[in-house]
This record gives sequence, C-alpha cells and structure tokens, in this order.
Amino acid sequence: MVVVLRKGATPAERAQIARMLMNPPAIENPRPVRSVVGEVFCVPTAAMRPGVRAQLDRHPAVARLVPISTSYQLASKALSAVKTRVKVGEAVFGGGDPVIIAGPCSVEDEDQIFEAARVARGAGAHLLRGGAFKPRTSPYSFQGLGMPGLEMLARAGAAAGLPIVTEVMEPGLVGAVAALADVLQIGARNMQNYPLLRAAGRSGRPILLKRGPAATIEEWLLAAEYILAEGNPNVILCERGIRGFDTQTRNVLDLNCVPLLASLTHLPVLVDPSHATGIRDLVLPMGVAAIAAGADGLIVEMHPRPDEALSDGEQSIDPATLRRLVRQARVVRAALRESASLPLDDGAAGPLVSPDEVIEGVEV
Ligand code: PEP
Ligand code: MN
Repeated sequence: MVVVLRKGATPAERAQIARMLMNPPAIENPRPVRSVVGEVFCVPTAAMRPGVRAQLDRHPAVARLVPISTSYQLASKALSAVKTRVKVGEAVFGGGDPVIIAGPCSVEDEDQIFEAARVARGAGAHLLRGGAFKPRTSPYSFQGLGMPGLEMLARAGAAAGLPIVTEVMEPGLVGAVAALADVLQIGARNMQNYPLLRAAGRSGRPILLKRGPAATIEEWLLAAEYILAEGNPNVILCERGIRGFDTQTRNVLDLNCVPLLASLTHLPVLVDPSHATGIRDLVLPMGVAAIAAGADGLIVEMHPRPDEALSDGEQSIDPATLRRLVRQARVVRAALRESASLPLDDGAAGPLVSPDEVIEGVEV
C-alpha cells in the first residue's frame, strides 16, 4: 500500500502519519520518500490494519491510498501508469525515442576514450559509457584504471558533449563516482548488493540497474525498489542477458522481459545486446530486435579498434557498426510508431509476400 501525500503536507502532518503507521503491526521506522507521484509512505499491504487505513483515508494530508498487490510497490505500474522519464543531458529515457549509450567496456587510456567519445557523438549516440572500476570474473584480468580512468572518461565526455555512464561497485565509492558521472551503473553481479543499492538511492544520480545473470524479474524489480525506497525515482532497468545452458553465446537475451516489464513497471527499460550475446556480429541485429520489442534504448560496447580492447573486445562493435545501429534503431522505432497509428483494415490486406516470390526456385 502506498500512501500518497498531498503537495504541501506540513512536517507536523507527516509526523502524524508516521505515528499512525508505526502502530503495530505496521512499519518500524516510517519515513516519507520522494517518488514519481510525489511524496509517499510505503507500507506492506498485509501490515495495514483496516482501522489505520480508514484514519489515513480521512487524513487531510493524504491525497490517496494506492493498494498494490505485488512485493515491489514504488516500481509498480499500479502506482503510476505513465512511463517514468529520466532526463540526462539532451536524452530522455522513456521519452519515446530510443536512447543510445555507447563506448568501450573499459577506459584504457586517454587516446582510446577520447576517440570513442568522438565516434559515439558522431554516430548519434546520446551518452558515453566506459568502465573504470571493472567487475572481472578473474582477479588476473584487467581490473580497470579506477579513479584516473573515471577522470579520463569525464574529460572525454565533456569534450564530446556527451554525459557519461560508469559502473560503481562499492557503497563507499558511490559519492566519488557520483561527483563525476551523470549516470551510475550497478552491474549484473551487484544487482543484489543491498548496501550498494541503498547508497545509489542516496547518490542523487540516475541509476542504470542491470539485471543479475540469474535474477528473476521480481528480484530485479525488488532491487530497483531498494533504490526507489531511498527517494531516488530515476531508475533505468537494463536487460543484459541471463545465464543459459548453451555455450554458443555468452548469455541468453531475454527479450520477453521488455514487453512484460512494460505491463509491470513504469520504469524505463534498456537492453545491452553486447553482454547478452558476447558476439560482435549479433549486437546489431539483437539491438534492433530490442527496439522492435519496445526497449527505451540500448547500451552497447563500441571500441575504436575492437581487436585491441583490453576487455570484452569479442563483443565490441566498431564505429561503422555503431553508426548503422543508431540509424536502424531510429528507423525501426519510427516505422512502428507510424504503423501503430494506421487504421487496421481487417481482411482487406493482401499477403505480406506475393505467392510468386514464395515459390520461386522451390520444388513443390
Ligand atoms: C559492463 O557493462 O561492462 C558490465 C560488466 O556489464 P554486466 O554487469 O552486465 O556484466
Ligand atoms: Mn563489458
């Protein structure tokens, strides 16, 4: 149950509502948080006693009570039916046009990241990505340049006029990373690092929350809930592939989740076809497929010289492919938008492919 406060509720009224919610068996330490629908208190629906509910209903500072049947509350579409728009620089995640984030897996040196930034900007990408603190599977792999890498990324982004996205792995570093990055990425491996999620919720920056490699959609939305519950409404979900049994691709891109999430949550959803596939040649087609499925944008690994990349080169696209991807993403979104507004002419439409084309060259 979400208790939505009226605009202009006074501190005394807030305290009064908090006291009402503290009465057993409601919540221990109720505090109002900022959300997409204004200031709210969240109370597990099962914990809400009918007497308290009736009192809240009558309270002059309460705008409305929203019963929510799912475990996640602030992330739920039941709270807000309209898609949350997260504005970063010129880009609006959830604003209708696909937002493209591009850049290398890792910041490697000044030349590489400045060149990547120029390419990303020239291709029409909206944000520059680059890892400085890298979560590597092996402790012997390149671990990223740390703070100096982040500083390089910030300088490259500023030079190209692009906001930057980078991963933060430790709660203690959230402040330092948030001081330089426009968007904080919480990586797949850290999706359930609850102290990190809480710190990200207090960072004041939009958060790109990747799905854990084996996380259910509900676990993922509950991870988002940790950030939202700290009063940070700017959460962008990112599907990056889940673990499958086939070793031909790095992960399995779960595109089911894109339209499914549109029915469960108001949060914008991105897709990362680079980590989802692990194969450079699959990034363009799967990125376009994600846009067709309704994704609000893409995050892709692009390296000026993919074969020389210090991490994830095999899944990094080159500059020309990025240019193609940005163009195709826009074309697909525009075509879907345009065709959605056309009237349906049931029965009158001809076959999509003429019979001649179908049987040409085929033995029947
Ligand atoms: C990355 O974006 O470079 C990364 C490590 O992604 P993920 O957390 O999805 O593996
Ligand atoms: Mn990577």
